[in-house]
Amino acid sequence: MAENPYEMALKQLKKAIDVLGYDRNIYEILSKPQRILEVSIPVKMDDGSIKVFIGYRVQHNNVLGPYKGGVRYHPGVTRDEVIALAMWMTWKCSVADLPYGGGKGGVRVDPRKLSMGELERLSRGYIRAIAPIVGPDIDIPAPDVYTNPQVMAWFMDEYSKLKGRNVPGVVTAKPVELWGSYGRIEATGYGVAVAAKFASRKYGLPFEGARVAIQGYGNVGYYSALFMHEWGAKIVAVSDSKGGIYNPDGFDPQKVKAFKERTGTVVGFPDAKKDITNEELLTLENIDILVPAAIENVITSENADKVHAKIIVEGANGPVTPEADEILFKKGVVVVPDIIANAGGVIVSYYEWVQNMQGLQWKLDEVLRMLEDKMLSALDKVYRKYYKLGSDLRTAAYAVAVERVVNAMKLRGWI
Ligand code: NAD
Repeated sequence: MAENPYEMALKQLKKAIDVLGYDRNIYEILSKPQRILEVSIPVKMDDGSIKVFIGYRVQHNNVLGPYKGGVRYHPGVTRDEVIALAMWMTWKCSVADLPYGGGKGGVRVDPRKLSMGELERLSRGYIRAIAPIVGPDIDIPAPDVYTNPQVMAWFMDEYSKLKGRNVPGVVTAKPVELWGSYGRIEATGYGVAVAAKFASRKYGLPFEGARVAIQGYGNVGYYSALFMHEWGAKIVAVSDSKGGIYNPDGFDPQKVKAFKERTGTVVGFPDAKKDITNEELLTLENIDILVPAAIENVITSENADKVHAKIIVEGANGPVTPEADEILFKKGVVVVPDIIANAGGVIVSYYEWVQNMQGLQWKLDEVLRMLEDKMLSALDKVYRKYYKLGSDLRTAAYAVAVERVVNAMKLRGWI
């Protein structure tokens, strides 16, 4: 059975506390969220019946600023999962040097079984239920699994109606037409590409011509491919849930995307030299950089030994298991951890919030330039800690994140 995500988050916290030499009191405070709200959301279904859905908003720690974190719609949502995700957001915001704490929300529902009208009523019901504890200076939700800019538009609209004025800064990743930011769609993949380029420079591997394999060709996978290709790397393998394709001469990411949009998959793309499975993609021999950008737990104790890439950049959340981490570390494979590698999304969410507070809308190139700056300075900090600790990058990233939170708690007199 998969490990309870909260237990896993606690283990990671403990490890960071130990390498930093902090005492048990710090662990005690940070191991528990500051607030957990459970709500029931009655929704009138299209057939006239009423269904009640369970939702959560968890606020882990706000020492650095308002809580920030997505809302997930999924039938498997549990309280412990939302607590773990909220805690991870504290570290992600901290390591990226954002003025935010960590929060997360979830509703136990299979949104694919709802009509658009039902989904809208559920979304409005959820934000009404958590309205007392959210707001631009308190807690700012965003999308996560199975929520999107349309859901954010409903959240923003419903919250604004409650307040009697427009409150665009209450959520981020809104549509660009409704106070969303340019660059939010590209942000996570762009940040992954920045992290890959940075890690290859540190490794002494020329990025120009570096061979890259990407698992998952959705939002994160596609934009990672696009920018890495633009900066000179060669995208030799990509995949989606139906399988993968390989060409040692590299693919044009835009052409692969156009093909996938037409056919529903990358498999069958005419420039491919051969089809490969997702498992084969992860263990390809002639690659330098591997970007798992689909789902969690794909690199495990079963296949970590067979990974040939020199660098793994975690586009997805949690694609490398803790056991695989140890194997890869011993092999000398560099793993750029999710909390920094895929932080581009939350960084541009922060820029969206700043724009909303100022009533401005910045240009795309301005947003991407600022995103790159933020990613580079965070990566630099993590690498410095990594050299200092002699650990893996994940431990270093957690140490940077926890240290910033603890310093802030000391300064505020919380500990
Ligand atoms: P997406 O739904 O746009 O794309 C997911 C892709 O993965 C699709 O191409 C899908 O076919 C593929 N896929 C699904 N199951 C697969 C499997 N078993 N094997 C191989 N491929 C599979 O999702 P996304 O927004 O690109 O997110 C991908 C990952 O990145 C998730 O872990 C998500 O939590 C994480 N993430 C996303 C963002 C963001 O801003 N979108 C930010 C941080 C982290």
